[in-house]
Amino acid sequence: MTSYCPVTDGIIERLGQIVGPSGVLCDREKMAPYAHDEVSEEAYTRMPDVVVKPENAEQVCQILRLANEERVPVTPRGAGTGLSAGCVPVYGGIVLSLDRMNRILEIDRENLFMVVEPGVTTGEIQRRAREEGLLYAGDPCSAESSHIGGNVAENAGGNKAVKYGTTSRYVYGLEVVLPSGEMTTLGGKCVKDVTGYDLVHLIVGSEGTLGVVTKIWLKLVPMPRFTVDLLAPFADMQTAIEVVPRIMVDGGVVPTSIEFMDSQSIKAAEDYLNASLPHSDAGAYVIVELEGNGEAEVAADYERIGKLCQEHGALEVYVADNLSTQERIWKARKCIAEALRVVSPVYCMEDITVPISEIPAMLDEIAETARRFNVSIPCFGHAGDGNIHATLLRGPMDDRTWSETRDHVLEEMYSATYKHGGNMSGEHGIGAKRAKHLARLMDPVQIGMIKAIKTAFDPSLILNPGKIVE
Ligand SMILES: Cc1cc2nc3c(=O)[nH]c(=O)nc-3n(C[C@H](O)[C@H](O)[C@H](O)COP(=O)(O)OP(=O)(O)OC[C@H]3O[C@@H](n4cnc5c(N)ncnc54)[C@H](O)[C@@H]3O)c2cc1C
Repeated sequence: MTSYCPVTDGIIERLGQIVGPSGVLCDREKMAPYAHDEVSEEAYTRMPDVVVKPENAEQVCQILRLANEERVPVTPRGAGTGLSAGCVPVYGGIVLSLDRMNRILEIDRENLFMVVEPGVTTGEIQRRAREEGLLYAGDPCSAESSHIGGNVAENAGGNKAVKYGTTSRYVYGLEVVLPSGEMTTLGGKCVKDVTGYDLVHLIVGSEGTLGVVTKIWLKLVPMPRFTVDLLAPFADMQTAIEVVPRIMVDGGVVPTSIEFMDSQSIKAAEDYLNASLPHSDAGAYVIVELEGNGEAEVAADYERIGKLCQEHGALEVYVADNLSTQERIWKARKCIAEALRVVSPVYCMEDITVPISEIPAMLDEIAETARRFNVSIPCFGHAGDGNIHATLLRGPMDDRTWSETRDHVLEEMYSATYKHGGNMSGEHGIGAKRAKHLARLMDPVQIGMIKAIKTAFDPSLILNPGKIVE
């Protein structure tokens, strides 16, 4: 177990000299929002000793140099929308909030790049790209609140990953401050680059444990001209989910998204939005997004996929080909996390990922676990890439029953995931929340590799300790 030094008044004074007094928070009330992310459990809450908000990379270098000298832990933080307690300072110390580094530095139309600081929201990046007729294809459901720095650190997925892949595919360069306080630029605007190890993609998804990202080179792509969404309600979940591999294999087109919502998620979304959704008594929804540059080609695609859905049991297929109907569908899909929180203020949202052909079997296992423990586990998520957000609701359980039930359910769910060729996290990361399960389930050789990489970057273990592996 690593031991750290306390944050003294002297350290706080030096932080104030680096970022100016308005960039340092020590008041408990002001620091309270920095003690947690979106994991809604007390166990994953820890008050920082100080929050510091740099305005530029040079200040980040000075903060890390100071922390390294004084052996104080530093936890980088974006918008705090994470679902793995990744930005929670589990050992106390400094929370390094990147929210003042929020500028779009360049939009390079000739090379199709946008260069940004880490504190820009993903939604802002999407809008700025759209204004240029371009697409930034990263699209987590939290786009309006999460920061691109957090997306990079988690290698965020989201709704468009079926066609476009995850955040990492669009990150070509990073400016990174190492735990020692040294700064370096990895990659940049070159589309091909195999010069040495692929350090850019070692940092992407490293959950703020290897370095602090201070600048990001993002690839943009042309914006498709036509987009259509299909909403297909099904009588039950199994029939709905069995259509997913059929769409992927027999559909003749790679959809942009294939999402699903089970009956509990549909009801929760309907109540939360206080709006009636079509066929809201259905057992499940499948949402398919298709896009392209030719109107007739997109129409032919959606007719074919719609027919396929009907042949495989869809009760109806609704076609949304204008912004307002498309927004209605996506509002329902994107609000589920908040909607379930109204149903149960404490819940445990999981992020398991299996090959798409295994989704039906995996959902059976989850339903069986829910029956055995007599709990509710609504499921929704990114069916087209096998990523299931199984969400265990606490309901009226007392603390002890909840913590025991949650641990048993997670153990079973993760073990079943591995049995079906999957992994415990498709996009939310390990953070503090899943570290003990990772230690149980990951090949020890790989745990050893992760530890070796961590100590190579951060021999004093000051950067985001307690995450991924101890
Ligand atoms: C309603 C809702 C919907 C969501 N939908 C999706 C989804 O569709 N897809 C998906 O992938 N996720 C989703 N998430 C999870 C979350 O939004 C993502 O993980 C997001 O990438 C986190 O970004 P953030 O800025 O909030 O990061 P934070 O939560 O602040 O931090 C996340 C991690 O990144 C590290 N970090 C942050 N900034 C930096 C930096 N500059 N340098 C180094 N490390 C850094 C932190 O230390 C931490 O480990 C959702 C969350 C919510 C609440």
